[in-house]
Amino acid sequence: SIILGIESSCDETAAALVTSDREILAHKLAGQEAEHAPYGGVVPEIAARAHAESITPLIDSALEEAGLTLSDVDAIAATAGPGLIGGVMVGLVTGKALAMAADKPLVAVNHLEGHALSPRLVNPELAFPYMLLLVSGGHCQILLVNGVNQYRRIATTIDDAAGEAFDKTAKILGLGYPGGPKVEEMARSGNADAVPLPRPLTGSAEPHFSFAGLKSAVVRAFDTGKYKKEDIAASFQQAVVDCLQDRLEKALRDNPPVGQLVVAGGVAANGPVRAMLEEVASKNDMTFTAPPLWLCTDNAAMIAWAGAERFAAGLTDPLDIAARPRWPLDPDAEKARGAGV
Ligand code: ATP
Ligand code: MG
Ligand code: FE
Repeated sequence: SIILGIESSCDETAAALVTSDREILAHKLAGQEAEHAPYGGVVPEIAARAHAESITPLIDSALEEAGLTLSDVDAIAATAGPGLIGGVMVGLVTGKALAMAADKPLVAVNHLEGHALSPRLVNPELAFPYMLLLVSGGHCQILLVNGVNQYRRIATTIDDAAGEAFDKTAKILGLGYPGGPKVEEMARSGNADAVPLPRPLTGSAEPHFSFAGLKSAVVRAFDTGKYKKEDIAASFQQAVVDCLQDRLEKALRDNPPVGQLVVAGGVAANGPVRAMLEEVASKNDMTFTAPPLWLCTDNAAMIAWAGAERFAAGLTDPLDIAARPRWPLDPDAEKARGAGV
């Protein structure tokens, strides 16, 4: 079957057409960097308006590139949360309108499920279950992916996400937004041992992540005026890699063995993060799958693919389904930890 995917939960507007046979017929994306850059971060109202302006032209151009019309599509998948509610609503309402007009089923996709299943779009061998490190701008979690709609959260961040820490560090260093790729680039010419920085929660008995203290330490190091920006960037990046590795290795020790390690989310685009994960996987006799860089950050192909997986499992949604600013993949773990974590 052919699935149209729509994504608008943060600052990328995207539309894609993907088949259940893993063929990516078209994927289109409009970023909003220029609109948000003056503010050093995503401004929700600006994002919602930009989504509204570009969503329909993007869908049209995706259909055109694929040589299809809406009637050729078997289902319409739209991100229904979590994310900035104004943007989510733009994409979801567009998906609903198209579903109604063309009389096609709607699949409401959790954006995190889009990231979580994205490696399966490019790796047909990747079967359930797998251990997933989901590292993005808003989330830092270790999940056991047992199947479509079957997620067990092992760890999450108690404060900032890893991508958020990259973005804040970029802001401190004056590198602008979005920060991850800029910090990575600057770190290439820096010394990762030059600046002493903490590795919050490493060695801790609890499974979770924390990055707020690391960010504060970056601020303090920067304010001393003693260090080169390149060295701060490299030392910060190494601290994040060390935190991710420590927590992941703990998760692997504490849980029954799984044969496959997978990474998803924007921070998965980071070279040193990927290199560390490859090493952890090989040490633990696991295969390692990382999506290509364009599939790591927000896009609609992953939403279309998650839609294809849900559609194949018979999981479609009513047209009155609501957009959700918060929507945990594992609600039981969320309840156990308490609100906010
Ligand atoms: P979420 O998926 O949690 O709602 P999001 O959609 O904003 O958040 P993504 O688009 O998946 O997140 O990822 C964006 C994040 O990834 C940003 O924080 C960005 O700085 C980070 N990022 C992107 N490329 C890199 C890189 N090369 N190194 C480190 N971080 C990166
Ligand atoms: Mg983004
Ligand atoms: Fe995302």
